[in-house]
Amino acid sequence: MIKSTVAELSLALAAGDISSVELTQAYLNRIAQYNGELNAFITVCEESALEQAKAADVARAKGDTSSLLGIPLAHKDIFCTEGITTTCGSRMLGNFVSPYNATVVERFSDAGVVMLGKTNMDEFAMGSSNETSFFGAVKNPWNTACVPGGSSGGSAAAVAADLCAMATGTDTGGSIRQPAAFCGITGFKPSYGRVSRWGMIAFASSLDQAGPICKSAEDAALMLNVMAGLDSKDSTSIDKPVEDYTATLNDSLQGLRIGVPKQHFAEGLSSEVEQAIRDALAEYEKMGAIIKEVDLPNSHLSVPAYYVIAPAEASANLSRYDGVRYGYRCENPVDLEDMYKRTRSEGFGEEVKRRIMIGTYALSAGFYDAYYRKAQKIRRLIKVDFSNAFKEVDVIIGPTSPHTAFKLGSKSDPVSMYLEDIYTIAVNLAGLPAISIPAGSANGLPIGMHIVAGDFEEAKVLNVAHQFQKHTDWHRNKPSAMAKEA
Ligand code: GLN
Repeated sequence: MIKSTVAELSLALAAGDISSVELTQAYLNRIAQYNGELNAFITVCEESALEQAKAADVARAKGDTSSLLGIPLAHKDIFCTEGITTTCGSRMLGNFVSPYNATVVERFSDAGVVMLGKTNMDEFAMGSSNETSFFGAVKNPWNTACVPGGSSGGSAAAVAADLCAMATGTDTGGSIRQPAAFCGITGFKPSYGRVSRWGMIAFASSLDQAGPICKSAEDAALMLNVMAGLDSKDSTSIDKPVEDYTATLNDSLQGLRIGVPKQHFAEGLSSEVEQAIRDALAEYEKMGAIIKEVDLPNSHLSVPAYYVIAPAEASANLSRYDGVRYGYRCENPVDLEDMYKRTRSEGFGEEVKRRIMIGTYALSAGFYDAYYRKAQKIRRLIKVDFSNAFKEVDVIIGPTSPHTAFKLGSKSDPVSMYLEDIYTIAVNLAGLPAISIPAGSANGLPIGMHIVAGDFEEAKVLNVAHQFQKHTDWHRNKPSAMAKEA
């Protein structure tokens, strides 16, 4: 049962084939069995999860038919959870207990979802391998010598190893999609503003977006139905009606125009990944889609522009961690300045400090125009590239990552890590919806396919992804190392 999709579990719970308590206990057993090896969870909430499961079973007996009622989920440890630590993968927030729930957490809780715990992540969501977490690296369930991707690596590994039915993630430059690709699961970043950021610890506010990490596009639709929507507490959340994202999953793809960016099939792409995506495109042609090459001429500028904009915003957002109000404070400060300095040098890890320094530099007088303003101009050009492409095609498809998961500890220089998001970052700069779904494998490691659509066309992305999953079984593959049942 634990290997089932959310859609399947929803039916099983409705039919009374299983109770939420039984299901929750099964996931807790699985976490006990595998989390030591994977390090996917930072916090496991056994007691409260079972209480929530009991309450879900009672609600169902009274006639509640909510589709996610009683289904066990894990939250990335970037979402504030009342009464439970929210660490953001950092020593700085190692002891932080939020007095309130993030809107995303609140919405799932209102839908009767059971929260199993909080998942590991790169510190403050900065990273592509989950190795920057203060709580240690997460291992990839397909090969524990490899990284799960980042920064939502704990959520991705937990879903891939069936330690939960579904999880949340956040994506600033690729952090939902790249780990989804590395772990062979489905990860969806909605349009900027579709999901409230309230109570989600800020990294780069103009790019951060929460989304589903799960086992199928259908599950992503079910999750988005709950997550999406206007929130008066987040002024960047959009006042646009939330569609039923499951309603159009089965629309025909006859005549769908798929754009293939020539820049994504160039130098640096592994031949196995290229082949898998070409095979997937052939699959779409069989479904009636038309493939066209598209040009995203400024895409090579997306990583450099991002590494000015994201650190600039991060340096401002992270200035609040000063040891005064909450979080880590150094021992025995001699004066205020000593407290600020030592709190921040002891509380933050290396990558976070690097970003704060880059961001502060880029925003400082004299450099603002040279770096920050220029990066914002590039951002605009990237947005225009996409708008032009979407005049000719309905969706854009390519690889999520140039390669499969790499070995733990194998990327030591920051720039090679930054290049991990080469295909995903432009989408954040443009604020568009995009999904990664499994579409192949090489040497026992999954390959992810990236599907992008225009602003607020989440329904289209999910439809195109779901149709592929109806015709193929890549999303059903499971890591054999995790095959042992508890
Ligand atoms: N890997 C990118 C970074 O390190 C993106 C992270 C993210 O999406 N949160 O900034």
